[in-house]
Amino acid sequence: MSACRYDMSRYLVDQLERHPKVEILTHTEVRQVHGADALRSLTVEDNSTGRPRELKAHALFVFIGTRPYTGWLQDTIALDSQGFVLTGADAEPATDKKTWLPLGRGPLLLETTLPGVFAAGDVRSGSVKRVTSAAGEGATAVRLVHEHRARGDTPEDPGTPQTRGRSNAGADVQRARRSA
Ligand SMILES: Cc1cc2nc3c(=O)[nH]c(=O)nc-3n(C[C@H](O)[C@H](O)[C@H](O)COP(=O)(O)OP(=O)(O)OC[C@H]3O[C@@H](n4cnc5c(N)ncnc54)[C@H](O)[C@@H]3O)c2cc1C
Repeated sequence: MSACRYDMSRYLVDQLERHPKVEILTHTEVRQVHGADALRSLTVEDNSTGRPRELKAHALFVFIGTRPYTGWLQDTIALDSQGFVLTGADAEPATDKKTWLPLGRGPLLLETTLPGVFAAGDVRSGSVKRVTSAAGEGATAVRLVHEHRARGDTPEDPGTPQTRGRSNAGADVQRARRSA
């Protein structure tokens, strides 16, 4: 890891730094794993000096990072360059004016480029990627769904800039919502 200080919850960093059995190796990358029937050791490299070092190890946990599985959404709602769902003010520039103008408003806080479709948690572009914020956004999204329904915002088959003239996935979502 390069540094855990800036990417992890503070309370976890504090616990790790204080733990007598934990040694944090910064600027260190795993280069090789060794062991015939089970893991026995790792070769790690200090990426600031290039110096390799062998460490005894019986387990290796890999932090796989965050990659949103939103490929199936890309023709329906606007995503950012990494595939996270745009919402609220971030979604506004990507909205289809013909769809939104009759509503007399732009996307609500967690609303996507498709009216009435909301995103919360890790999948949302710009979200904090923490459990509590995901839960909070989920609760907020429910409140916004009620607001959307109370307004009666149900444009006819709006689609999106991407879907109009192609598959009408946006309309399908709208129809599914109406029949729900
Ligand atoms: C290794 C690791 C450690 C972490 N540690 C912490 C921590 O210490 N503290 C902290 O606050 N946060 C931590 N996080 C982040 C935290 O887990 C996330 O921020 C949180 O789980 C996000 O919640 P979510 O509901 O947005 O997404 P998820 O928890 O990812 O839930 C999304 C769900 O949707 C499902 N899904 C995906 N696509 C579809 C589909 N097409 N149809 C139906 N279901 C689908 C997925 O299977 C998944 O169950 C950690 C994350 C990781 C990976």
